[in-house]
Amino acid sequence: MPAKIICGKEIAQEIRAELRPEVEKLKARGVTPGLAVVLVGGDPASQVYVRMKGRACEETGMLSETVRLPETTSEDELLATVDRLNGDPKIHGMIVQLPVPSHIDANKVLRRIDPRKDVDGFHLENVGKVAIGDDSGFAPATPAGVQQMLLRSGVETSGAHAVIVGRSNIVGRPMASLLLQKGNGGDATVTVCHSRTKNIGDVTRSADILIVAIGRAQFVTGDMVRPGAVVIDVGVNRVDDPSTDKGYKLVGDVDFDAASEVASAITPVPGGVGPMTVAMLLYNTVQAAQRWAAT
Ligand code: NAP
Repeated sequence: MPAKIICGKEIAQEIRAELRPEVEKLKARGVTPGLAVVLVGGDPASQVYVRMKGRACEETGMLSETVRLPETTSEDELLATVDRLNGDPKIHGMIVQLPVPSHIDANKVLRRIDPRKDVDGFHLENVGKVAIGDDSGFAPATPAGVQQMLLRSGVETSGAHAVIVGRSNIVGRPMASLLLQKGNGGDATVTVCHSRTKNIGDVTRSADILIVAIGRAQFVTGDMVRPGAVVIDVGVNRVDDPSTDKGYKLVGDVDFDAASEVASAITPVPGGVGPMTVAMLLYNTVQAAQRWAAT
């Protein structure tokens, strides 16, 4: 039987609908949650993501500020922008869209963001809090979105063997921390694979929940999936497709057609994890504004 589709688009809409009354409550207290997105340079994919985030903010009744800086911006100039936003009382959440140009040390910039405004969850203080299960930290939006998809689709994580393919700081590592946490959406037994993992198919075939975030188009084939497993595909890859207007299409890190013949549930690309990332960024920003209003 083909797998059930876990529709990130629908779950993301549900989360955004839940946020609207929270935003209204804050507004009634004179606080409009504000998200600033800083974009350095003209990377086309980043421009699309930044536009999407700004639009999503406005649709949820939040304030959105996009700061576009030229490719030639120096590290000091970017740090000065972060400092300004750290001190701006209208801004409760801030992200610097990655990647930044290579002459800028991304880590230095991320660590300059006030941890209370670090809604991407990349500041060391938030990384540490997520690692030890302290829920006053901000979890990065993509793995937090995956956890919500599992929870809201009724996928039991407790006692499940979750295999994560990819160990990036943005997806794989925080994903492992979230699934390891005690309680709802956690309590999994977690294995993390990467480019040096031997016999990776043997590991992925042992997964009850398989989460793939490597950036390799259709890397996970049907025979790498255990029958009945839940498959979450984080990857977004452009592959040539002359039959489309743009000449390319987006595919995940999983061979969707083959895997959906084996899995019990699977996320599509697009329309899977992507919309969840945006929804969780808004969620973190509302949280930041609520904490700010409570001080
Ligand atoms: P990344 O920083 O490039 O990390 C990729 C990870 O995959 C690394 O840990 C790497 O291992 C591992 N890897 C690469 N090739 C592998 C292979 N052949 N076998 C096993 N592991 C391999 O990527 P990322 O930022 O985590 O992003 C991963 C994918 O998710 C990309 O397609 C990205 O576009 C997508 N993404 C989507 C969203 C969304 O909202 N939908 C958000 C973030 C990312 P090593 O550490 O050993 O090099």
